Amino acid sequence: MTTAQRHTADELRALAEQAGRDLEDAPALEILRWATATFGPRFAVTSSMEDAVVAHLASRAAPGVDVVFLDTGYHFPETIGTRDAVAAVMDVRVITLTPRQSVAEQDAEYGPKLHDRDPDLCCALRKVKPLEEGLTGYDAWATGLRRDESPTRANTPVVGWDARRGKVKVSPIARWTQDDVDSYVAEHGVLTNPLLMDGYASVGCAPCTRRVLEGEDARAGRWAGQAKTECGLHG
Ligand code: SF4
Repeated sequence: MTTAQRHTADELRALAEQAGRDLEDAPALEILRWATATFGPRFAVTSSMEDAVVAHLASRAAPGVDVVFLDTGYHFPETIGTRDAVAAVMDVRVITLTPRQSVAEQDAEYGPKLHDRDPDLCCALRKVKPLEEGLTGYDAWATGLRRDESPTRANTPVVGWDARRGKVKVSPIARWTQDDVDSYVAEHGVLTNPLLMDGYASVGCAPCTRRVLEGEDARAGRWAGQAKTECGLHG
């Protein structure tokens, strides 16, 4: 892994904007190789453990790369099992971030089932804040966002500027379709969350995720019945 120099925020933004243009048509592996060559250990991959495609790609581009997982305390057991399997079989370093409060502590302060009453606050406490703190030591982070997942993700750049966090945001499979993901999983035997074989198209916290119906887009099972479509991590 290249030893990367530290960059100022202005330099990071310029790097992101230039790379977004230069790498728009590049394969995912090339995008990840650019990220690891540019940022070295100040680059991390985030994974929801819906599948391990980006973690697998990153392990090829940068063996031993940090893979950050947010354990909200509300995950399905299958998701925790996928994380443990990734840590066991892939050449990556899995880092689990947790919220400041356990679910019981949050219930005591805000009342039970905050996710039903104020999911934005629940996500802010259990996802947005812990990720913000967990990414402090990195200049760039990678996500598995894809343009075809939902209209809110249709303009995702392969490399962009995360102004809120002051970091470079890399989405190496932004241009991939579900078929591309399925082909990569089949070709490389990549770990996937068992719930994907059980009617779930997108896997998040258990209270806020349901199976999708025929014809629904992949993220329709997230916060179903509520106006909310994103957790706030990608705003
Ligand atoms: S997805 Fe649901 S349970 Fe998970 S942090 Fe957000 S509101 Fe809370």
